[in-house]
Amino acid sequence: MKTIGLLGGMSWESTVTYYTEINQLINQQLGGLHSAKILLASVDFAEIEELQATNNWQKAGAVLGQKAYELKTAGADFLVICTNTMHKVAPQIEEVSQLPLLHIADATIAELKKQAVKKVLLLGTKYTMTQNFYKERIIAERIEVIIPEESEVEQVNRIIFDELCHGEIHADSKVYFQKLIQAAAEKGATGVILGCTEIGLLIQAADVEVKVFDTTKIHSQKAVEWALNK
Ligand code: GLU
Repeated sequence: MKTIGLLGGMSWESTVTYYTEINQLINQQLGGLHSAKILLASVDFAEIEELQATNNWQKAGAVLGQKAYELKTAGADFLVICTNTMHKVAPQIEEVSQLPLLHIADATIAELKKQAVKKVLLLGTKYTMTQNFYKERIIAERIEVIIPEESEVEQVNRIIFDELCHGEIHADSKVYFQKLIQAAAEKGATGVILGCTEIGLLIQAADVEVKVFDTTKIHSQKAVEWALNK
């Protein structure tokens, strides 16, 4: 079994989900007392969030690249960055760390294709929803991406940073997300990408009528595949 290098803490609430999912999946496949071989580098999210908010992505990439390099020297075989947003600087992190990177969007695209989704709603931080680094990979695969309107982007972003990253689950926020997903379904979307690793804390498959692509779960599943097969 390969050793998975997790670059986490963004936020730690979702890193917990990665740790649990990966260990459960390894145990389901190998049985007995088997669990995953994981090295975790967990950052102080306040420092990273400040770099995001001040548009200092280069510095954020350098900090995360250094942490990922530490994972390599500690013995990680490949890298899992436990946030969608910081994949904005994935090329920089990959280069500095010299570790093979399991890209969260690519793992998600493979699932979208498997389930023949042609039009999808993307929910995530304002960076993930409005910038190109994430969307363009999906669009390149001929899948149409819908994002919410400007005021909704702000509200989704607020819920992520002010509630979910603090582990707060509010019923009215859940309803808000359900309405956005329903509106996208009415525009022809057959799936929703939970493109922020904390959204799965709020929305699950049973809450909506379209197919749910929870990036935290998909990324964890792919990490287990890589750990056992690649
Ligand atoms: N975990 C979130 C994501 O998947 C947001 C935190 C961040 O900005 O990195 O994008």
